[in-house]
Amino acid sequence: MRFENKVVFITGAAKGIGKAISQGFAEEGALLALSDLDIDELERTAKELSNVAKVIKTYKLDVTKEIMVEKVIEKVIKDFQKIDILINNAGVSTMNYFWDLTEEEWDFNMNVNAKGVWLVSKYVVPYMIKRKKGKIVNTASMAGKIGAPLLAHYSASKFAVIGFTQAAAKELAPYGINVNAVCPGFVKTSMQDREVIWEAKLRGISDPEEVRKEYIKQTPLGRLCYPEDVARVVLFLASDDADFMTGQAINVTGGACMH
Ligand code: NAD
Repeated sequence: MRFENKVVFITGAAKGIGKAISQGFAEEGALLALSDLDIDELERTAKELSNVAKVIKTYKLDVTKEIMVEKVIEKVIKDFQKIDILINNAGVSTMNYFWDLTEEEWDFNMNVNAKGVWLVSKYVVPYMIKRKKGKIVNTASMAGKIGAPLLAHYSASKFAVIGFTQAAAKELAPYGINVNAVCPGFVKTSMQDREVIWEAKLRGISDPEEVRKEYIKQTPLGRLCYPEDVARVVLFLASDDADFMTGQAINVTGGACMH
């Protein structure tokens, strides 16, 4: 019960990694403020977690829309009076050779993955600064450390998340606020299900499952990553055990990335 009565605000909480993170916090006593663009899926997730969570509130949020972010954070503070932990997890991916990318595709990935992390942090941090306390964990990616083919735009957005994490960690250190990132590898979520189909098509591979097998071959520990693998590390970074860690980007890749 590391998070008894701690208020955690999570973006992209409806499914995949965000859902596993939400479940992890619920099991350890946190009060959950969950947000997602897909409010129907989020409501389903909240219903599932209501058996384990003490308190859950849901908020429809598009992390790319500043006015919406401002209003949602105000509402969370009204509902819970504080935010102890912020998890910037919402993210998107599309796949293409960079010379075939449209401006729209570039902006979509950069806006959700990079701008979204900045915007939500911008509106949460003043409440943490007032209390001189807080933990922020951003979901970056292995693609934020190694350029990933067919994902140049996504890689750029995740390198940006790590750069932002380091700068924010330095700016917020005097206020007792830690900012870290996790860098997942090949995680079995709906994002990966979409990616194997795109990648197979772009590379002329008939069976998308062959692409998934390649992901496993690139992973020394010999299996895909699961959302719970990532959630456990996120919870550690949000806990008191990580009090002397800030500005770090921690791989959860089964050894697929080692720097
Ligand atoms: P997912 O697609 O299963 O879930 C992403 C969630 O984010 C969805 O619920 C979606 O509705 C929400 N979302 C999308 N756009 C949003 C927006 N504009 N505002 C608010 N919410 C929005 O994906 P996932 O695999 O669980 O990914 C979660 C995070 O992990 C992302 O940041 C992703 O880039 C990162 N990541 C995933 C993998 C992987 O292999 N799956 C690897 C490394 C990093």
